[in-house]
Amino acid sequence: MKEIVIATENAGKLREIEESLQGMGLRILSLKDFPFLPPIEEDGSTFQENALKKAKTVAYYTGRLTIADDSGLEVDFLGGRPGVHSARFAGQGASDADNNYKLLQLLKDVPPSQRGASFRCVIAVANPQGEQKWVEGGCRGIIGDRERGENGFGYDPLFILPELGKTLAELPLQEKNKVSHRGKALAALKDVLEDFLVR
Ligand code: IMP
Repeated sequence: MKEIVIATENAGKLREIEESLQGMGLRILSLKDFPFLPPIEEDGSTFQENALKKAKTVAYYTGRLTIADDSGLEVDFLGGRPGVHSARFAGQGASDADNNYKLLQLLKDVPPSQRGASFRCVIAVANPQGEQKWVEGGCRGIIGDRERGENGFGYDPLFILPELGKTLAELPLQEKNKVSHRGKALAALKDVLEDFLVR
């Protein structure tokens, strides 16, 4: 069975990626299987740079085919922030609750017509030989004025899909994967992975 490493510490991302890769006949490993890897600083200015850096570094150190996701929320009213800084929007080590609280404060009194936002996700693939590729996906929504839903992670409880009238946190994982930025990137990843698996 072919092995693949998913280079993320984020349990929410891992669940969504694993769900999508089911049925491809892969043995899925994560960073937990490689506790001695050096930390990777996400210092790129784009999702693409960060995703490629994570995938290439982990493929090199583990000697295995690796995928890495870099993603985040771009809020129109905030000029695209927090973007690549989404995980640490409220400061280094911030929790999802801290980040959501900060976002709600910054959008206090902003009307629904100006609360548009995009989630973006880049997934990079790299092998130990240094070959690499990336795919991306996006998703438009509106930032709600309070958290709704218990599923998902990160900003999901605030991100309303206008066509469903629900936040991403109100969708079961399989449903989120059908509409989300990551789900779209994962759909595009399948062909790319098939290609890497026969190399
Ligand atoms: P990364 O580990 O630098 O890619 O950080 C991604 C951050 O963006 C997460 O910690 C979340 O705050 C946010 N994010 C990315 N994807 C999602 C999602 O699917 N739902 C909610 N928040 C997300």
